[in-house]
Amino acid sequence: MIRPDELTYDERGLVPCIVQDAATGEVLMLAWQSRDALAQTLTTGKATFWSRSRNELWVKGATSGNTQEVRAARTDCDRDAVLVRVTPAGPACHTGARSCFFEALGPDAPEAAGETLARLEQTLAARRTDPPAGSYTAKLYGDDNLRHKKIGEEATELVMASLRGDKTEIASEAADLLYHLLVLLQARDVSLTDVAAVLREREGKRR
Ligand SMILES: [Zn+2]
Repeated sequence: MIRPDELTYDERGLVPCIVQDAATGEVLMLAWQSRDALAQTLTTGKATFWSRSRNELWVKGATSGNTQEVRAARTDCDRDAVLVRVTPAGPACHTGARSCFFEALGPDAPEAAGETLARLEQTLAARRTDPPAGSYTAKLYGDDNLRHKKIGEEATELVMASLRGDKTEIASEAADLLYHLLVLLQARDVSLTDVAAVLREREGKRR
C-alpha cells in the first residue's frame, strides 16, 4: 500500500483528486488534496480536500451535510493523482446536481448501463425505507406473493416479446423484469453488489 508522502505533489503541494460514486461508478467531482488532506481522508474515512480559494483544509459536506464516506482510495501509475470511491450523503455539486460534471462539452454518450441499474437500486431502497403514498414499489415490498408472481409474469412477457422479435418491445419487457428482479433482491437484503460478487467469482471459469 502506498503512503501519502510517496505521492508526487505539484508546486503548490497539491494533487488532483477524482471522486467517484462507489455504488454506481459515476464520476462526482474533481478537487485538490494536500498531503494532509489526503492523510486525513484516509484516517477519518471522510473525503477531505484543500480549498485553493480559502487556503484551508475542507471536509466535504462539513457545512452542507453532503459528506462523502470513503470506500476506497487509489493513486495512479505516476502517483500524482488520487481516485477516491465514496458513498455520498447527498449531491456532490454546490448547485445541487449529483455530479459536478453535468455540462456537455462535445459528444455525449449515455451513462453506462451499470450506473443506471445501480441508481435504480438506490431509488428502490429509498422506496422501502420511506414509501411515498400510492407507490407501486412499496406495494411490492409489502406483498410477498405479488412480488414473486410478478417475476413469473414479466419473465413470460419477455419470452413472448423475444419470440415476436421486436427489439423495442424486448427492451421494454426486459426493463420490467429487471425492475421486479431488483425489488425481489432488495426485499431479501441482497444487493447488486452481492450478485456482482458471484459473477466476478465465475469470471474466467466460464466456458
Ligand atoms: Zn460542482
